[in-house]
Amino acid sequence: MNADYIIQANNLQKHFDGGEIKALDGVTASIRKGEVVVVIGPSGSGKSTFLRCLNLLELPTGGQVLFEGVDITAKSADINLHRQKMGMVFQHFNLFPHMTILKNMTLAPVKLLKKSQADAESQALKLLERVGLADRAGAYPSQLSGGQKQRIAIVRALCMDPEVMLFDEPTSALDPEMVGEVLEVMKELAKEGMTMVVVTHEMGFAREVADRVIFMADGKIVEEGSPEKIFTAPEQGRTKEFLAKVL
Ligand code: ADP
Ligand code: MG
Repeated sequence: MNADYIIQANNLQKHFDGGEIKALDGVTASIRKGEVVVVIGPSGSGKSTFLRCLNLLELPTGGQVLFEGVDITAKSADINLHRQKMGMVFQHFNLFPHMTILKNMTLAPVKLLKKSQADAESQALKLLERVGLADRAGAYPSQLSGGQKQRIAIVRALCMDPEVMLFDEPTSALDPEMVGEVLEVMKELAKEGMTMVVVTHEMGFAREVADRVIFMADGKIVEEGSPEKIFTAPEQGRTKEFLAKVL
């Protein structure tokens, strides 16, 4: 274990269909506290599976995940406890449709972290203010735009006081004019020192915000490095080929 790292994935494997599909085929990666890591790669390369294995939404079929030095893939690990420390934001906002925004944000902190309703609400309102949505606390998700819903999904995750935030293509389902407002919230979060692992096709965001870019293909990390290196001097053929298509 290395104390500088908040997450260490060692030789992670995730096989489906009895090993026929190797969604992850030996991924080793470490995330430092405060680091922003952007994961890029073609569709089907294992990016979502990688994120989902980090917080054990998927159980790896091989390898380990250490979170703050603790092997959370061990049988004895308290999965729920560790999962609470990793906020996750999905492509589709996953807000509860029948609850107000405020209720969406206070439910888990009250239930799982045993915060008082009053404390949870005051924290939620502060976060809503930060993303310019304080006046929407009493609204229902269906009354919000996609960009607003995704900003809410981000601050809802923050209500759990996570150590790490995982983002899986948070802007891919948005109309183009709403992408910027969501990326802006993510940039702010990065500036404040949040540890973030972000799967995205937004190469501008990757260049500007990432400390490190990981390129995946076929369930493996093909290449990683600073945005400068990956975007201007990629070494691997697969990386060059991918970037030629998306840049
Ligand atoms: P990405 O997010 O990079 O598009 P995924 O992690 O979603 O890639 O998928 C990686 C590979 O694993 C793909 O071939 C996908 O079809 C396969 N896969 C993902 N989830 C499942 C599942 N639940 N059952 C079977 N195959 C899956
Ligand atoms: Mg995916």
